[in-house]
Amino acid sequence: MSHVVDFIRRVIDSAEDECEDLVEHLTGVDSARDRVASMQELEDAFPGAADVYRTLQHIEAPVSYRDPSGEISGWRYRNIELDWEPRAVSWAWPPRTFVPYDEVLRESSTSATNGARGVRVLGSCWGMSSLSHPRPGGNLLFRGEDASVEARAEWTDDGHVRALLGATFEEVLDVLGERGMTLRNQPGYASLSVAGCVGTGGHGSGVRASAPLGTLVTAVTIASPEPSVHEVTRFALGDSEFPRAVTHLGRLGPVVAMELAAVPAFHIAEHREIRRLGAGVAHAEQLLGDVLGVQLEASVHSAEIWIAPYADRHGDTVASVGIRRTTAEAPSEGARRPAVLRCKLLQTLSQMAAVLVDRVHPRWIRAALRQGVLATEAKKPVVMSSRDALDFGVLNRSRVGSIEMALPMDRAPAALSALLAALEIAAQRGHYVYSPIGVRFTGAGLGGTLSPQADRDVTVHVEIPTFAAPAFCADLVLPPLQALLASYGGRPHWGQRVYLSPGELRGLWPASSIAATARLVQRRDPGGHFASPLLDAVLGI
Ligand SMILES: Cc1cc2nc3c(=O)[nH]c(=O)nc-3n(C[C@H](O)[C@H](O)[C@H](O)COP(=O)(O)OP(=O)(O)OC[C@H]3O[C@@H](n4cnc5c(N)ncnc54)[C@H](O)[C@@H]3O)c2cc1C
Repeated sequence: MSHVVDFIRRVIDSAEDECEDLVEHLTGVDSARDRVASMQELEDAFPGAADVYRTLQHIEAPVSYRDPSGEISGWRYRNIELDWEPRAVSWAWPPRTFVPYDEVLRESSTSATNGARGVRVLGSCWGMSSLSHPRPGGNLLFRGEDASVEARAEWTDDGHVRALLGATFEEVLDVLGERGMTLRNQPGYASLSVAGCVGTGGHGSGVRASAPLGTLVTAVTIASPEPSVHEVTRFALGDSEFPRAVTHLGRLGPVVAMELAAVPAFHIAEHREIRRLGAGVAHAEQLLGDVLGVQLEASVHSAEIWIAPYADRHGDTVASVGIRRTTAEAPSEGARRPAVLRCKLLQTLSQMAAVLVDRVHPRWIRAALRQGVLATEAKKPVVMSSRDALDFGVLNRSRVGSIEMALPMDRAPAALSALLAALEIAAQRGHYVYSPIGVRFTGAGLGGTLSPQADRDVTVHVEIPTFAAPAFCADLVLPPLQALLASYGGRPHWGQRVYLSPGELRGLWPASSIAATARLVQRRDPGGHFASPLLDAVLGI
C-alpha cells in the first residue's frame, strides 16, 4: 500500500509544475467575465464539473463605487455576506482628500427611518462574522485593490514597519524582506489585512513566539470617527488605551496605520509526525501536554496539531503534529513540504472531491480526512524561511465557514475530548465537517482587551473549519460545537463565525475589560457611526 501512496505522491510532484497554470486559470481569475469563460471551458471538458466547482467558490458580489478620481472599480466581498447592497467607498491613506470619508460618514448618519446606519471599514474582507457588517442598510469603507499602484507598507525611521490602511501581511513581509528583516510571527495566511487580523485578536502559533499578533504592535493610528474632524490619534505602546486600540474590533474608527516590531530574517526547520489519539480526556491531555512541552525548548518556535475528527474502527483518531525549530541552516534544496500542504492542484482537487463525496456517500469523508492528515507526515525536517514556514500555504478560493475557540490550557484537554465525542454524535446523524481540526498555542495576549488570549498565560486555539456553502450545513453543525467549547471557557475568534448570544459572550471576558472597551468606544464615537450590531450588544451600548 505504501508503494502505491509513494507512487501517487511522485506523480503529483511531477505533475504539479505543469498543472500550476491550469490551477491559476481555474482559481486565480479575478474578473467575473473571465471566471464565466473559464467555467465554460471546465464544463465543456468535464460536464457537471463547473457546478461542483462553483459550489466551492467564495461569494462573489461585485460592487461598483466611484473612487476619488471618478473611476468605477469593482470589489468582491469574499467571506462577507450582506443581504443588502451597501454603498462602498474607497479611501486611501495618507489621504489625497477627505471627501469620500466625510461623505460616507454623513450619509450613514442621516437615515430618516433607522437612526445611524453606520459604517464598517474593511481590510481584506476575509472576516466571517457579522463584526464585518455595519447596521442594516449601512455602508462600507475600504482601501481598494491598488497595492500594486501605491505601496501600503513602509519602513519607519525607528526600525519598525508601518502597515497603512488595507495593507496585508504579505505586503509588510515584502518590505521587511528587502532589508533582511521579518516578523517574529504571522497568521497562517499572509493575505489577511494587518488591521483586520490584529484588530480581531488574530494570532499565529507558538507559546513563546509573540503569537498573539497584537503583541507585535508598537503603535496604532486611528482616524476620528466624526465627519469633518480630520484628526488622527496615535496610541503608542505604554499608553493606557494602547491595548484596546490594538484590539479595536473595527469599532473605534478607521485604523489608518499599525506599526509592528521587526526582527532579523530567520529560518525554520519543520517536521511533522503522526500520533494516534484514543477516546477520553487522558489521551487529549497527553497530546496537548506533549505539544505544549516541546514548545518550551529554546530552539522551538512553534508547534500545531491537525486532527482528523472521526475515529477509525479501533476507536482511534489520527493527528499530525507539526514542530518548527529555528535553525542556522540554509533552506533545503530538494526537500519540500508534503504535496498535500503545498500543491495547489491537490488542494483544489481535494476540495472538489469533498463535494463529490458529500453528494455520493457522505460517510466516506471520515476516511478522506484521515488520509489527508496522514499525508502531511514529514519525518525529515524541511528548512524554509520563517515567512514560508509560518504560512500554511492553503489555497483559499473557497468560502470557508469556521469557528475557532480560544481555550485556557487547563481546560483544553477536557474540551477537546468533548468536542471529538460531539463530532461523532453529529456524524451519526449525517452531519459532518469537511476539514481537519486545527489546534494552535499562544502565550499571553494584551490584557484588559476583548482579544481571545487576553489575561491568560497559555491559550489553546481550536479551529473547526468547514465549507460555507449551504449544502454543507455549517450553520447546523457549528453552533452547538461553539456552545460546547464556550462551556469550557472558550472565547470565539471575532473574525470567524460567532453564534453565541450577547449574554453568553459577556460571560467570557472580565466585566472590567468589557466596561473599559465600552467607555473607549463611547468616548471616541458618541455618534455611533461605527456601530456594530454584534459587538454593541455585548458592550451594552
Ligand atoms: C484562509 C483564512 C486563514 C485565516 N488564518 C488565520 C490565522 O492564522 N490566524 C488568525 O488569527 N485568523 C485567521 N483567519 C481569520 C482572520 O484573521 C479574520 O477573519 C480577520 O478578521 C480577517 O481580516 P480581514 O481584514 O480580511 O477582515 P475584514 O472582514 O475585512 O475585517 C475584519 C474586521 O476588522 C475591521 N477592520 C478591518 N480593517 C480595518 C481598518 N483598517 N480599520 C478599522 N477596522 C478595520 C472590520 O471592520 C471588521 O470588523 C483566517 C481567515 C481566513 C479566511
